[in-house]
Amino acid sequence: MRITKRFCKFVRWIVSDSSTQIECIMRGLRYLLVAFFALSFSVLQAGYDTHFHHKTLRMDFFHHGSSNTEEISLYRFIEEPYWGGSLVNLTDTFSLGQYYVEVRDTVSNRLLYSRGFSTLYAEWQDTPEAQDTTRSFPGSVVLPYPKHGVEISIFRYNKQHIPSRIFSKRFIPGTTKVDSAVMPSYPVIDIVVNGTPSEQLDILILAEGYTQEDREKFLRDCTRLAGYLVGASPFREHSDRISIRAIMSYSEESGVSRPDKGIFVNSSLGVSYNTFGSSRYLMTEDFHRVRDVAALAPYDQIIILVNSDVYGGGGIYNFYATVPSDHSAADFLVLHEFGHSFAGLADEYYTSDVAYQNHYDISVEPREANITTLVAFERKWGDLVLPQTPVPTPASALYSDVVGVFEGAGYAEKGIYRPYLNCTMRSVIYDAFCPVCKRAITAMLMFYTGGF
Ligand SMILES: [Zn+2]
Repeated sequence: MRITKRFCKFVRWIVSDSSTQIECIMRGLRYLLVAFFALSFSVLQAGYDTHFHHKTLRMDFFHHGSSNTEEISLYRFIEEPYWGGSLVNLTDTFSLGQYYVEVRDTVSNRLLYSRGFSTLYAEWQDTPEAQDTTRSFPGSVVLPYPKHGVEISIFRYNKQHIPSRIFSKRFIPGTTKVDSAVMPSYPVIDIVVNGTPSEQLDILILAEGYTQEDREKFLRDCTRLAGYLVGASPFREHSDRISIRAIMSYSEESGVSRPDKGIFVNSSLGVSYNTFGSSRYLMTEDFHRVRDVAALAPYDQIIILVNSDVYGGGGIYNFYATVPSDHSAADFLVLHEFGHSFAGLADEYYTSDVAYQNHYDISVEPREANITTLVAFERKWGDLVLPQTPVPTPASALYSDVVGVFEGAGYAEKGIYRPYLNCTMRSVIYDAFCPVCKRAITAMLMFYTGGF
């Protein structure tokens, strides 16, 4: 009876016309919403704590094969002290990259963790050398350290995007042999830290080609690089979700190797221009060494800052990105390469010297968010194209500021389309990601930072 009376009083209060009361209701709803998300977050994190420790299990392996073959052989498991990833978003929702790793409970077969990635090995397979040569490349995946037995599997997509399992290994804590990380004693420097690693996008900058005497220059270069990154949209709008740390992984000699010029430098990570014969392609094949250094700090993404003023760079999805410190286009380069390595974006250009051939099969829809073959365009950016915009869209000034479907992208002049006339993924322009690239980057940022 008392409750009924109170309820009637509450209803009379709601229906009476007062903006203060509406404000009170809205505030109450907001509190309820916040409480709901806080509860959801703690429930999801409890899921993490049931299955994983707050540290990393790293699995190092080797890719082995030629242009159309691949075997993966296990090298070692390593325990690392930090887990920089999300505690709530554990399974991949993007389906990007040429591979994915999957971690399943051995008892229930429940999927506990998954993540897409690409590799330098897969890029090498598209080079002429791979037609008549067999090679091995170091590979590695990281995952939260399991509390119980798990099955770790690696899947590879073919060009028709059909995945097949190419490797599988059971990991039983306390039974499977694990090495402790033997980490080099390099200093870790906080460039900007805005929160705990599980709720931040943690970017780790590694030094390449800097001697101990170059320490001050490295710090200045890191600060400048971080400014380029968080100064550009859409990172700028979410800068409070981004933390950047640096590791002074000093080299014996200053600079970086340029084999096509006969220059060879004893640098800490083995980065070199002229990868796969492309003068500007700046990569290291020694991914295990990169992981050894990165283990010193929590991270989601690795950028290797190369002490050089020569144009170049590289970026592979969930692998690493490289940027030369002193080239005048370093601001553009860090965004472009990070677009590849962080959000799995495709190159939107086609008239350029690239090291590989027939990268995309135009009879299937590419999985990258910012290119299309029109095979399944409805999964891409159709919702951003106005009804009056023609598809395909003429590459004219009339359409320079609208989202459309412009032919020429992904290293092909015909058959592959991009969403905007120009974009940081197409031309040397800073802070000019197109609306489709911005949307893809923002979605990835939310995934890493547990955003709702
Ligand atoms: Zn774009």
